[in-house]
Amino acid sequence: MTNAELNQLKQRYVANGAASPSEQFAARGENALLWDAEGNRIIDFAGGIGVLNLGHRHPKVVEAVKAQLDQLMHTCQTVISYAPYVKLAEKLCQLTPVRGEAKTMLVNSGAEALENAVKIARAATGRSGIICFDGSFHGRSFMTLAMTGKVLPYKNDFGPMPGDVFRAPFPVPYHGISEEDSLKALKTVFKTDIAPHRTAAIVIEPIQGEGGFYAASPSFLKALREICDEHGILLIVDEVQSGFARTGKLFALEHSGIEADIMTMAKSLADGMPLSAVVGTGSVMDASGPNSLGGTYSGNPLACAAALAVIEAIEEEDILARSRALGDKLAKRMAEWQQEFEAVDNPRNVGSMAAFELVADKSSRTPAPELAAALCKKAKEKGLILLACGFWGNSIRFLMPITIEDELLEEGLDIVEASLKELVGQPATA
Ligand code: PLP
Repeated sequence: MTNAELNQLKQRYVANGAASPSEQFAARGENALLWDAEGNRIIDFAGGIGVLNLGHRHPKVVEAVKAQLDQLMHTCQTVISYAPYVKLAEKLCQLTPVRGEAKTMLVNSGAEALENAVKIARAATGRSGIICFDGSFHGRSFMTLAMTGKVLPYKNDFGPMPGDVFRAPFPVPYHGISEEDSLKALKTVFKTDIAPHRTAAIVIEPIQGEGGFYAASPSFLKALREICDEHGILLIVDEVQSGFARTGKLFALEHSGIEADIMTMAKSLADGMPLSAVVGTGSVMDASGPNSLGGTYSGNPLACAAALAVIEAIEEEDILARSRALGDKLAKRMAEWQQEFEAVDNPRNVGSMAAFELVADKSSRTPAPELAAALCKKAKEKGLILLACGFWGNSIRFLMPITIEDELLEEGLDIVEASLKELVGQPATA
């Protein structure tokens, strides 16, 4: 079928809120390349929004899933468990920076992981309050929507939201929100909304994903850790987007030197198979009663087999070093664009978690979200999938597979540059 024919089916049969805006249909993928239904080649700088750190159909992952497919597809782990679930739980407990002896539970999506993290935190503390940050994205289920700090497009049509969720500003010094502002506002929340002794958890993305690839500094994360410890609040670290090698470490939190009480992960955990995990301190994870957590499909054997292969491949193929090297290349190109174009500013990266901002001009720093959208559109016309993000909608983020070949990376970055030239033309210092 052609793209046009598939589009007709989409328009007729797929719900508006769930339909992809793209008029192309992916038919095949390999590492950082896709081919559409008509055989057109597309360079993929989105990686399924951070799901494909090891690329489309990584050979080891495909092999592991095929082998598992020949053995067992499903039992429902609460009925009878299987080796891939417990082996993955063991691995994740060994690798995740949480306090003390860790325990794991598996679910299917990022949102589900966050839902369960909140349930566990409430059971462990006997408290209800949850504090999150502006610009955060934690998912599309009701609790995670309440926690998400951005109305459009996620929350707009769907209220009322669950209660006892409060928010503080996330520090973004480039846009005038300092760490001190943020910490002060958090302390105000304790005065205006919920007392510390009623607060179960503070939930933070150490580097915001949808919110704009803004990083919480090690000192900010340490300050949060101290506030949590002072009041017996649990620190939930959401690494759904920043985890699994994107930042040059397995988890972004490792850059700060602190440990979480609970960590959530998903996306590149299983390189395209639906799987998420909640990993936390054993005594916290064990707080709720038998059969209180889980779900019919949670920790599916195929997805667990994929995740075990991902963990092996990250070690064997030195993916953490490759992520850092990719980050260096992205940083160099972004710095060149910042020099060349008045509209390009605030390039930033932790490993290969890299983004830059489009602004009216460098002195005003006024966000230009329409320019970010135009850049993505132009890149698409040239055969590149590029993603915008951000609280202000004006950041361009890079989520290409860490395994992308050098030539393909340069080809994609050249498309970004050519698109910038067409859109914002003259060099800034001409
Ligand atoms: N948390 C973060 C940090 C995310 O980036 C996302 C998705 O982008 C989620 C949670 C929700 O994950 P999912 O879409 O798998 O429910």
